[in-house]
Amino acid sequence: MENPITVSPNLSYIKEGLQKQKEYFKTGATLDVEFRLKHLRLLKKEIEKREADIHQALYKDLKKSEPEAYITETGIVMKELDETIKKTRRWAKPRSVPTPMFFSPGSSKIHPEPYGTCLVISPWNYPFQLLFLPLIGAISAGNTVVCKPSECSAHTTQITKEIIEAVFEKQYVWVVEGAVPESTALLRERWDYIFFTGSTHVGRIVYQAAAKHLTPVTLELGGKSPCIVDKDINLENTANRIVWAKFLNVGQTCIAPDYMYVHEDIKDKLIAKIKEKISQHYSDSPQTSEDFGRIINERNFERLCSLIDGEKVCFGGQTDKDDLYISPTLMDNVHPDDAVMQEEIFGPILPIMTYKNIDDVIQYINSKEKPLALYVFSTNKSIVNKVLKNCSSGGATVNDAVLHIGNAHLPFGGVGESGIGAYHSQLTFDTFSHLKSVLHKWAIVDLSIRYAPWGKNFKWLKFLMKNTL
Ligand code: NAD
Repeated sequence: MENPITVSPNLSYIKEGLQKQKEYFKTGATLDVEFRLKHLRLLKKEIEKREADIHQALYKDLKKSEPEAYITETGIVMKELDETIKKTRRWAKPRSVPTPMFFSPGSSKIHPEPYGTCLVISPWNYPFQLLFLPLIGAISAGNTVVCKPSECSAHTTQITKEIIEAVFEKQYVWVVEGAVPESTALLRERWDYIFFTGSTHVGRIVYQAAAKHLTPVTLELGGKSPCIVDKDINLENTANRIVWAKFLNVGQTCIAPDYMYVHEDIKDKLIAKIKEKISQHYSDSPQTSEDFGRIINERNFERLCSLIDGEKVCFGGQTDKDDLYISPTLMDNVHPDDAVMQEEIFGPILPIMTYKNIDDVIQYINSKEKPLALYVFSTNKSIVNKVLKNCSSGGATVNDAVLHIGNAHLPFGGVGESGIGAYHSQLTFDTFSHLKSVLHKWAIVDLSIRYAPWGKNFKWLKFLMKNTL
């Protein structure tokens, strides 16, 4: 299906820039692993040099404090760079796999080869991390890359552009700034791989554009991630961890607990503890806390305000449009039909629903789209196992929230409406590589019974196939 938005003729520079990247890829320069490593090292140096500027940009865009910016953005990118620099040579080598006797003598290997010219589109909520993590993997795998950062996080986009321009030639890595018209123009082109992070709505547009050219994609999308709290918990830690995960980046985190389903026996105690923890983390006046950020823009501020039902607010609910501030807000006695339960919240509002029987929670979750993340707090193993076994989600953390994204050994991605594909660490390298199967036969020795006429050899062929494959 065609994207209905027309591309303005003055965006023809996009086609030209892409053409240059395609020609550059064909020169074979990026096939050299040392060449990739040289650029990754330069990138590391440049990010180290500009760290203070990056943190300042994140503060201007989202009022992210320096510790939060480091923990969730620059620190993660530096760690990924270190690991990628250390392991790219190993990842890029052909990987030996067994060769069954039927195919002998010979060898079998998986050769990772770069796709070619890739498009990376990123969102505004973790604008540094979510552009650089896929970019690092794409470079390490030997591709050329065009990046389209979000127009909403303009300061981080500017510094991203400066860093990339200081390290890469445009024919290798190029930042295209802009909004829907630029994205639309980019999506009209033929790419070898598209890596998109953003909303499910735009994910569909990207997938349709990719389908036209059969372009492979990774879609890192969103959704409503449930947080189930059983009656058997460590109250102190549960409350601390939920407050941390929900109000980090003011709730503008794709895997933030979207809503809480809490066992009726523990609800009052838990709500009281969560209130106490909010005040501990962000003081009694979060608007003046150095560690509490802001909503990205007026459009999202208005959207979030419309989800707050004053009658159900049991904590917070203060808003200040001039400051794009919404306080940490709890809504109690929420019903599945309420407005706040109809869309991904993506802000500092935590709706609370109550349950008696875990089966009802499982049934509710399974009646909705598969979430990007799922959290279950319980010291009761059978409850935890029941939830994990019966509810599909992109990822999950037990007795904590958000943290599974930080373990580079775990693939990060969605399922169903929350996304296609996964990445981090070697999986990012593999995502941006075509894993080419190569069976290398010896030229001289041959198994003659494979050739027709099969006649009496058929029984030997059958025996070999059954017993050696
Ligand atoms: P978005 O989908 O509005 O925008 C993402 C990117 O797509 C931006 O660069 C934007 O310019 C571009 N875009 C917007 N409209 C487009 C169109 N019509 N055609 C082509 N491109 C278009 O998302 P957002 O508001 O920036 O981010 C919030 C969403 O992203 C949430 O749903 C969140 O859950 C999700 N998200 C997911 C992850 C993840 O890792 N799975 C991470 C962060 C955010």
